[in-house]
Amino acid sequence: MMNTAVSSLPLASIDLPDFSQLGVDELKQNVESALQQAQQQIEQFPEQLQDAQHALELIFELDHAENALQQHWGVLSHLNAVKNNAEIRQVYQDILPVLSDYYTQLGQHQGLYQAYQMVQASPAFSSLNPAQQAAINLAIRDFKLTGVALEGEAKIRYGKISARLSDLSSTFSNHVLDATQAWSMPLSDAQLQGLPESSIGLLKQLAEQREQTGALATLDFPVYLAIMTYAEDRDLRETVYRAYVTRASELGDSQFDNSELMQEILQLRQEMAALLGFKDYAEYSLASKMAPSVDEVKQFLLDLADKARVPAQTELAQLQQEASAHGIDQVAPWDTAYLAEKIKLREYKLSQEELKPYFPAPVVIAGLFKIVERLYGIQIEEKQAPVWHSNVHYYEVSEHGQVIAGFYFDLFARSGKRGGAWMSGFRSRMKIRNAIQLPIAFMVGNFTPPVGNKPALLTHDELVTLFHEFGHGMHHLLTEAEVIHVAGTHGVAWDAVELPSQFMEFWTWDEEALSLISRHFERDETLPSELLNALLAARYFQTGMQTLRQVEFALFDLNIHSTVPAPDTMQIQHILDEVRQQVAVLPTAPYNRFQHSFSHIFAGGYAAGYYSYKWAEVLASDAFDRFEKEGLFNAETGKAFRNAILAVGGSVDALTAFKNFRGREPQLDALLRHNGWDAPSGENHQPDSVSASSPAS
Ligand code: ZN
Repeated sequence: MMNTAVSSLPLASIDLPDFSQLGVDELKQNVESALQQAQQQIEQFPEQLQDAQHALELIFELDHAENALQQHWGVLSHLNAVKNNAEIRQVYQDILPVLSDYYTQLGQHQGLYQAYQMVQASPAFSSLNPAQQAAINLAIRDFKLTGVALEGEAKIRYGKISARLSDLSSTFSNHVLDATQAWSMPLSDAQLQGLPESSIGLLKQLAEQREQTGALATLDFPVYLAIMTYAEDRDLRETVYRAYVTRASELGDSQFDNSELMQEILQLRQEMAALLGFKDYAEYSLASKMAPSVDEVKQFLLDLADKARVPAQTELAQLQQEASAHGIDQVAPWDTAYLAEKIKLREYKLSQEELKPYFPAPVVIAGLFKIVERLYGIQIEEKQAPVWHSNVHYYEVSEHGQVIAGFYFDLFARSGKRGGAWMSGFRSRMKIRNAIQLPIAFMVGNFTPPVGNKPALLTHDELVTLFHEFGHGMHHLLTEAEVIHVAGTHGVAWDAVELPSQFMEFWTWDEEALSLISRHFERDETLPSELLNALLAARYFQTGMQTLRQVEFALFDLNIHSTVPAPDTMQIQHILDEVRQQVAVLPTAPYNRFQHSFSHIFAGGYAAGYYSYKWAEVLASDAFDRFEKEGLFNAETGKAFRNAILAVGGSVDALTAFKNFRGREPQLDALLRHNGWDAPSGENHQPDSVSASSPAS
């Protein structure tokens, strides 16, 4: 019998992959055998279903096959992302088409589709728990989005498109990684002028690691940022900027050029959307999201741009003024971080270099754990486990003395690791045969690594990113859903997925939280009040320009995915130029090829969905507003958030989950306030785009 209430099964013990022993061959075998087993179940799927109970049992069996596959593939793709080399890349690339075929077959399986429909239509459906019901409803929606209704040629074509798209995305991402790693530049002492000790130490360490003398500039993000922020040498800043923004483009090394890939990806996505009956890929993408329509999202973004424009113009004028004082006629993109740092230093007495010694990674991490312990009543402890690099640590989450989840931190930039920060939940909470499988996550960053004997000292921006990913982690780890398809972030509308993550960022701006996450790495001192005040005073610095930048990316993403026929490389550039014209306040360098390394949309899950960051920020800000009213460490409020948002995963639709927490529709006021743009009082700021939305799922 299917269990219909939330089960009281024992928790399974956590057995972890032995990362110290796992070779490429074993990784490959594991995925292949999981795939084989899943395929077998599909092939042996009975022609006739006896009844809904029989259908449920078959679905349950398939969920187990999916569970095994997700874990083995999760480990392989994780290592492909953080410990990339020719061998693992080959294996990954070889398995992709087989995996794609399997998912196409699964998504178009008539018998399975009927099994889901049979369960949904049966009287037994109402006795299933909410997670089981949601999983069935979402599966039926997704069958339509994966072409279950297609026949003949169209069906075959869909499969080919899917396989080709997964291959193209992977190659896109490899090009970005390779182009990033292929570039380096030895620096003279004169070129190091302006760089703080800690950055020089890092550049020297990089030279040493490559058996070179002196200091070496690379395109690793911490290095790029240090040069943009501190290098006095304006030519050097431009050189490094140019190298960074032309990565994987026709202006860089031609073997890594993503131009044709982008074009083909957009064409295939458009073709796929059309096959499935959508006007364009953007419309297809929104069919599984919370936002009601592409037009409403565009309007939402343009409204936000309107709100940000005046602050952004003021910020630019301030930069321009600062530039004049440094003998720079016209502010260029490679000057902004440099000038911003000077302004912060003078206007706010804020120096990132002075802050960093107060944020050693181990202290920040311990403080972060204390914060979530107070919010959610959980405990987190580091445990010994085999890892894939000496900088990786493993932790377990427990509650009432019982382990409920585990996670790995892999936080520092190094060669062979893709850029950016992310959380991936490779094992989900799930009811397995006679126990509950516990969730496990990878949380990955590219923070400044430890230099010499010092612990890694984090910038406040890195802190924000760490909290962001940890918010995703909490979503995955504190889920109470016991069905794999709706556990954690699974099944959550993509444009609401950034709620728990952006929500968590707010704690990095709170005095009490900062006292928990700061201590000087040499002296037993928390952040002194002058530094704390400086940090808080500069909080809204350049929020106008930052917002416009996010809006620019989001509109560009929507526009290229709603242009029919799909744009070619030239037209992609043209669309980007148009968006910049419409939104940006600071002109971009004509050679800027940002789009060629925009992995979020060409290699990740954000295609026609980059707007999710801004969309979900409304929800995150408004959720946090309740904590501001009731107390940031109010355990009752924490419990309410955990129950309404984190625990349910995808088993409750995003808008309902939000309303369950706030007791009303989302409002825009808090987001404006959190950007430093106070909403005028007396007006109703409920945005149509969010409040009127009815989620697709
Ligand atoms: Zn995120």
